[in-house]
Amino acid sequence: RAKEEGRNQYRFHSVELDQEVNERVTIAADLRLALTRDELFLHYQPQIELANGRIIGMEALVRWRHPTRGILVPAQFIPVAEGVGVIQDLGRWVLDKALTQMKLWQDEGVAPPVIAVNVSLLQLKNGTEFIKDVTALLAKTGVNANQLELDVTESMLAQMTLARNPILDRLTELGVKIALDDFGGEYSSFEYLRAYRVSHLKVARDFIERAGQDDEKAKTVRAIIGAARELDIKVIAEGVETSEQREMLLALSPKTRGQGFYFSEAVAVDRATELLKAGSIIDRSGVTT
Ligand code: C2E
Ligand code: MG
Ligand code: MG
Repeated sequence: RAKEEGRNQYRFHSVELDQEVNERVTIAADLRLALTRDELFLHYQPQIELANGRIIGMEALVRWRHPTRGILVPAQFIPVAEGVGVIQDLGRWVLDKALTQMKLWQDEGVAPPVIAVNVSLLQLKNGTEFIKDVTALLAKTGVNANQLELDVTESMLAQMTLARNPILDRLTELGVKIALDDFGGEYSSFEYLRAYRVSHLKVARDFIERAGQDDEKAKTVRAIIGAARELDIKVIAEGVETSEQREMLLALSPKTRGQGFYFSEAVAVDRATELLKAGSIIDRSGVTT
């Protein structure tokens, strides 16, 4: 019986695996088409100066309106795009779209100081092509290099074997800003902050969440903010969801910036434009933060 059950379990598992593989294969095929069919779109999430609620940036976050599966978020297709070699094309599309929107906001006189765009490890690894894309798209859209910020995670940097990353160096030379995304995970190395001229350190959401409950974590966040200040790097707390978190962060440093559902989730372009026209974010209790 045990053997039978074991076998059944194995079969059950194998069917699930098959389904997972099949799903990845279909998503991969659909993804190539998605780019030509205009199924991808961007949502934008404001980045906020905590002390006064001012919008200091907008982060572009990609979405996919799948013909049968509904709206998919990056976790559902970015890894697939990386696996099947579509990420370069997808990344170029995102950059083009985000910079084009930034230019429209500039022409309307409502643009934030920077538009933030996420970068995949594979884009950095295929760096020559990436530099070409960035340069060409800045020229095409007319957005200044220093109005573009690229989000790079520290796990990405940890996976790149080089002590210095010539692609990041080249981007910095061009004037493009680099933000270190999801900081506070297993790597949390200040090495990267010294090695690259990082303009923003983005403290990961689960870290901010735990800092609200745990004094030790709060101390660590305080230390991170302090070190960043020494290095002249601004801190963005990711995933700010409550007024308590906002208060805690402001108490740690009045210059802290934040991003999160407390202020606004990632929203469609029309809503993002409205928020930019207002200039600052009104929080949920109806008070200008
Ligand atoms: P990220 O760059 O760290 O972006 C923040 C993610 O957290 C977004 O999820 C955002 O919607 C979510 N978020 C923001 N505030 C809160 C909050 O207060 N609470 C909670 N629970 N979540 C919050 P999203 O849009 O699903 O993106 C996930 C990740 O996918 C991004 O993390 C980024 O690493 C990646 N990604 C997004 N767009 C792109 C892209 O165009 N290219 C690449 N390569 N990666 C992308
Ligand atoms: Mg990001
Ligand atoms: Mg992040």
